[in-house]
Amino acid sequence: MAPPPLQLVIVGGGSAGWMCAAACAQLLHPARYTVTLIESDDIGTVGVGEATLPALRDFNELLKIDEAQFMRETQGTFKLGIEFRDWDWPGEHYVHPFGSFGLLWGGVEFQHHWVRARQRGLNPAPLEDYSCAVRACRRNAFEFPDFKNPRSTFFGYAYHFDASLYADFLRRWSIARGVRRIEGQAVDVALHGETGEITGLTLKSGQKIDGDFFVDCSGFRSLLLGDTLGSPWEDWSHWLPCDRAWAVPCERSADFTPFTRSIAKKGGWIWRIPLQHRTGNGHVFSTRFVSEDEARATLLGQLDAPALMEPKLLRFKAGRRAQAWKRNCVGLGLASGFLEPLESTSLFLIQKGIQDLLRLLPAPETGSRSDERLSGEYNRLSDEIYERIRDFLILHYAANRRHGEPLWDHVRSYELPESLRHKLALFESRGHVPYFKDGFFSRDSWLAVLFGQGLMPKRYDRLADLLPVDELAAKLHELHARIATQVDGMPTHADVIARHCGTGAALRQVGT
Ligand SMILES: Cc1cc2nc3c(=O)[nH]c(=O)nc-3n(C[C@H](O)[C@H](O)[C@H](O)COP(=O)(O)OP(=O)(O)OC[C@H]3O[C@@H](n4cnc5c(N)ncnc54)[C@H](O)[C@@H]3O)c2cc1C
Repeated sequence: MAPPPLQLVIVGGGSAGWMCAAACAQLLHPARYTVTLIESDDIGTVGVGEATLPALRDFNELLKIDEAQFMRETQGTFKLGIEFRDWDWPGEHYVHPFGSFGLLWGGVEFQHHWVRARQRGLNPAPLEDYSCAVRACRRNAFEFPDFKNPRSTFFGYAYHFDASLYADFLRRWSIARGVRRIEGQAVDVALHGETGEITGLTLKSGQKIDGDFFVDCSGFRSLLLGDTLGSPWEDWSHWLPCDRAWAVPCERSADFTPFTRSIAKKGGWIWRIPLQHRTGNGHVFSTRFVSEDEARATLLGQLDAPALMEPKLLRFKAGRRAQAWKRNCVGLGLASGFLEPLESTSLFLIQKGIQDLLRLLPAPETGSRSDERLSGEYNRLSDEIYERIRDFLILHYAANRRHGEPLWDHVRSYELPESLRHKLALFESRGHVPYFKDGFFSRDSWLAVLFGQGLMPKRYDRLADLLPVDELAAKLHELHARIATQVDGMPTHADVIARHCGTGAALRQVGT
């Protein structure tokens, strides 16, 4: 006889909860798993989280979500990268693109050829000119990459969207595919007397909900993983000192960029995310270096159109739960950790957590839901990606030259994690940067920030010397011209939105 289905209970209906519910509904066999999601209207969601990474496209494909419909329903726009302003020092700017700088020539990475060309006096164009995505950002242009022929375009894209509309979209999508939604606030968690596993929840209404496996998506409260199971909090705020954000939407303006903008400020940085119907803005800052009032005023002074509501204050700490999977519970989203949104990584971490979880999820026939082989592997994968992202975020702060400003002096002077020190030393001595086949952040991302913030390697990979110098000069020239021609032929971002997935909001407000 087939075992009864395993009852999955998700606590929380923010982006984490509904992304998890949607993936479970699509990918798990309904006769073997049931999915229940509990969310509380009284508590609500954090309601931010509007910029993403290209991996979200894979998530949508996995769920068979139609892109144009998704974009319309979430008022989405396309994102080719992030523009960083004033991070190195005021007045400087660079783009971290979703795509590569140049090409591999003779199996040698492009940065080595470029550094060699500089050292040999060939006077190559700035590195960013060898990136399709950066050049497209500079022109507010966009087109869909030809993924069948990556050598012809070598860039990818992600989305900006309205976080609340995204959760609504996934809620409707999941309920239509069999997810049971319960509205109510969980006030008590029952544990098994011997194993310590979670056996069920009690809601404020008195309703009891039993389950076999629990996914904690309860946000910063971390009701199950943190509060109940006591997975320790690993604090990373000594490296990432920002602990607050003001967030405020404003009216759409004419500057319809295919990128997120991040502007460094005295006590942190400001984000700007263009959507079809409005622009999202926020100021992430550290209360050690700037007061809440001053940060609020800085944000409001930076808006490019009138605010649509009062700014909302969010409090957080950088860090994560040491065990993302403990006993029969996995934490996703804010319940398992938080790294500031500088590189739009939270939704990606949720997506990765869901994909790893679904590969390792206990089977209905397993008696105990706690299996340390599965949880150990999940936690190893989670540690790896969190640490990679942490190092990459720290790099943005540590590699600044904003001398004389307390926050920026502080982040330049503290002791870096050993893993980051190693990466920086390797880059400085040989121009090598981390490269991973899967996941973030890899070669081109590191190149963008390292070169963007003014670092330059002393030497390059000697394998690059095999290419004759005149051939190197010709190849650089040809590539530069090819990318310029391609980008010059691209339509504007606003045109592509209007044609592909426009709701009318963007065009009405920019008056085109
Ligand atoms: C300032 C800021 C900017 C950000 N920007 C980005 C970005 O650009 N890109 C990105 O990828 N990420 C970003 N993030 C992160 C992103 O917002 C979150 O990762 C994402 O929204 C997921 O949140 P969540 O679902 O974990 O939590 P929440 O949205 O807080 O949802 C928690 C849910 O749990 C429910 N709940 C809580 N307690 C109970 C209870 N006792 N009983 C029942 N239900 C309960 C609530 O009702 C709610 O539904 C940002 C975060 C912050 C703070």
